[in-house]
Amino acid sequence: MIIILVGAPGSGKGTVAERIQNKYEFPIVSSGEILRNEMKQETAIGKQVLSYVSSGKLVPDRIITALIKQKISKHQHKCSVVLDGYPRNLNQSLALEDMTQTKQRVFYLDVPKDILKERLINRGRTDDTEKVIEQRFEVFLNETRPILDYYKRRDTLVRISGTSSDEIFRKIDALLSK
Ligand code: AMP
Repeated sequence: MIIILVGAPGSGKGTVAERIQNKYEFPIVSSGEILRNEMKQETAIGKQVLSYVSSGKLVPDRIITALIKQKISKHQHKCSVVLDGYPRNLNQSLALEDMTQTKQRVFYLDVPKDILKERLINRGRTDDTEKVIEQRFEVFLNETRPILDYYKRRDTLVRISGTSSDEIFRKIDALLSK
């Protein structure tokens, strides 16, 4: 199974992914973490993606898809994987289906916008400045939200609303342990 966490910036995808990993021992594949690592190590890919990440835009699909494919194939012997931050647009959703035929469960982490903003400002990552945050919200609305309709039509989407990652994890946990 592939567990896909979709949510606006600050919705707690990373925290919820960790909670799932702790309980179920499913490895996490986090696109944002992979990219931040590449940038930190100043690899060729890191240099290519820096301007996108620091301005809050999506990095080109072919770059992120190749990285994710590599990671997922490493975990193929495991029963399940938690995907944090991928797919982020329709093209990536289709690429993921090509990559693996494993059953997908998609959780949309629906958190009120005032809470999202407060969290991002307090988190203080380099792409958490006011201007970049706005850009990332725009990208979420224009590019990522359409995948929710796509998964809804395929009956793989569950909307999980909550104001804390605790609450959201509890709801997901209840569904996973059923
Ligand atoms: P995140 O840690 O998920 O908030 O991602 C941080 C940044 O990494 C995003 O604002 C994008 O610039 C980039 N990024 C992460 N995941 C993807 C993806 N699936 N496709 C394109 N860019 C991504």
